[in-house]
Amino acid sequence: MKQSQMLIPTLRDVPADAEIKSHQLLIRAGYIRKNASGIYSFLPLGRKVLQKVEAIVREEMNKIGANEMLMPVLQDAELWRESGRWDKFGPQLMRLNDRHDREFALGATHEEVITSIIRDDVNSYKRLPLALYQIQTKYRDEKRPRFGLLRGREFTMKDAYSFHATKESLDEMYEKMYTAYSNVFERCGLNFRPVIADSGAMGGKDTHEFMALSDVGEDTIAYSDISSFAANIEMAPVLDTYEKSTEEAEEMKKIATPDAKTISDVAKHLGIAEENCMKSLLFKVDERFVLVIVRGDHELNEIKFKHLLEAEAVTMATEEDAQQLLGASFGSLGPIDVTGDVEIIADNAVKAIVNGTCGANENGYHYMNVNVDRDFKPSQFADLRFIKEGDLSPDGEGTIQFAKGIEVGQVFKLGTYYSEKMGAQFLDENGKAKPMIMGCYGIGVSRTLAAIVEQFNDESGIVWPKAISPFSVHLIPINVKNDIQRELADKLYNELSKVGFDVLYDDRKERPGVKFADSDLIGIPYRVTVGKKAEEGIVELKYRETGETEEVSVSELANRLVN
Ligand code: ATP
Ligand code: MG
Repeated sequence: MKQSQMLIPTLRDVPADAEIKSHQLLIRAGYIRKNASGIYSFLPLGRKVLQKVEAIVREEMNKIGANEMLMPVLQDAELWRESGRWDKFGPQLMRLNDRHDREFALGATHEEVITSIIRDDVNSYKRLPLALYQIQTKYRDEKRPRFGLLRGREFTMKDAYSFHATKESLDEMYEKMYTAYSNVFERCGLNFRPVIADSGAMGGKDTHEFMALSDVGEDTIAYSDISSFAANIEMAPVLDTYEKSTEEAEEMKKIATPDAKTISDVAKHLGIAEENCMKSLLFKVDERFVLVIVRGDHELNEIKFKHLLEAEAVTMATEEDAQQLLGASFGSLGPIDVTGDVEIIADNAVKAIVNGTCGANENGYHYMNVNVDRDFKPSQFADLRFIKEGDLSPDGEGTIQFAKGIEVGQVFKLGTYYSEKMGAQFLDENGKAKPMIMGCYGIGVSRTLAAIVEQFNDESGIVWPKAISPFSVHLIPINVKNDIQRELADKLYNELSKVGFDVLYDDRKERPGVKFADSDLIGIPYRVTVGKKAEEGIVELKYRETGETEEVSVSELANRLVN
C-alpha cells in the first residue's frame, strides 16, 4: 500500500484527554479517532490491526469446532425480560424504543438471543454439544468510559456460547476454550495470565479471566511467588491459619474515644495495634441487616460476603439504619449486646483476637478487652476478607504477591441459568426433557488490541509484535525525487509484495525526519530505507524492536525478513 493513498493522520503532540500510552499512541499514530466518550472510529491502520486480531481469534475458534455466526445488535426487550436481566443489568444496557414504542436493547452480550435460537431449533441430545461464536460490536453504557479502547461504550467482542447435554461435555468444552484463549493471547504476543475469577452478574460458577499484565490494569491479580496459583483478588480465598495468642482474657471495659472515627484513629488514641481492633460494618442484605466483623487491618471483600449469603443485593446500611438498629453512628458500631434483628457474621481472623477493641454502639465510646464467644457470638465465621500481599498462598505453596491486569477475556461455566429461565430444553437418551447446560466465552478484541500497545511501545511509538502489525515492512525512500532511489524502492515494493510481504511504501514527498518519526510511531517491525547506497544496490534494514540497523544488499533483503 502506498502511504500517499492512505489516511494515516499522525500527530506530534499527546492528546490532552489521553492518560495512558495505548490511548495516546493509537491516536497519535493515526489508528483511531474519538467520536464521543468511549466511542471510536478505527482508521485504516486501526482496522487492519483489528482484523489481524480477529483473524487469530477466528482461527483458534474454528480449530476447536466452534461455528461462526452473526446475531443482531438490536435485541427485543422481551428476551431480556425472560432471563430477568432487563431489570438486573441496570444502566449499562443501552435501551431504546422503536416507532411503535416497543423496547429494545443494544447488545451488551448475547446469552438471551443465542438461547432463544437454540431452544427453537435444537431439541435432542443427538445435536449436542454445540459451540457458536460471533465477532461483533457490543454496547455498554459504562459508568466511566476511559483509557481509549480499554473501556469503551462501543467495542468489539468475540462472544461464544456452548450447549451441552452433560456436565462432562461442558467441562471438555471449557478446557478447549481455555486452551484456545491461551493460544490467541500467545499468538498476539501478550504477556498474560489466566486467573480464577468471580462469575459476577452472569450467574455461573467456574470461571477464569485472562489478564494481560499491565500497571494500568484495573484488576488486581493475587498470585503465588512459587506455585501456579493466580486469582483475581476478588476471588482469592484466605486460608484459616490464624492462631490465638496465649494472652489471658481480661475484663471488658468501656472507654471514651472522642473524635476517633476510623480504626486508625481508635488504634492511635488507645495506643493499640490495628490488628487488635474489630471493624464493624452494617449491611442491608436483601431485606435484613447483617453486622460484619473483620480485623482492623483487614478489608472486607463484599463479593465473598455476597456469595456466602447467596444474596441478590448487598448494600451498605445508611447512617439512619445504624442509629435506629444499633443506637450509634458508623464509627462506633460493634457486636456487643446486639439484638436478634441484626445478625452478626465474622471473618475467620476475628476468632483469634484476644482482648480486642470494638465500637460500643454509643457514639464516642469503644469497648476494650473484648473476647469472641465470651462477649458476643457471631452466627458464623467465614473467609470474608481480601487477601493481602505476604499472605500464605491459598494452595499452601508460597506467599501472595500482587500484579495489575487488564481483563482481555473470560470463560464461564454458566450451567442452566439461562436455559431454565428461557425454557431451552433437550430430550435425553431416555426421552426425558432436561435444560441444556451452557458455557459462555468472551474476548475483548478491541481491548486486546489496546493491551498489546500498552505492553509494546517505547518513547518513539508503538512496537508491534509481528503477528498483528498492520504491515510487515515499512519501505522508505529518503528522497523520492532521486530517480535511482525511487526506482529501487518501486522495484523492492513490487518484489516484496510478490513474495507475500505486506508493505507500507512511504512514497510521500516528505523530509526524511518526518518519515522516520512517523515510521517509529506507527511501529511496523521492519523498516527498509532506500538512500544514497541505492546506486550500489544496498539498503538499510532497521528492526523496530531493538533499534538495530544493518546494511543489506537488495538480493539478500527478502531472506532477512521473516513474515
Ligand atoms: P469488565 O470487568 O472489564 O467491565 P466484564 O467482565 O464486564 O469486563 P465480560 O462480560 O466478561 O466483561 O465481556 C467479555 C470481554 O469483553 C471482557 O473480558 C473484556 O475483554 C471485554 N470488555 C468488556 N467490557 C468492555 C469495555 N467496556 N470496553 C472494551 N472491552 C470490554
Ligand atoms: Mg468479564
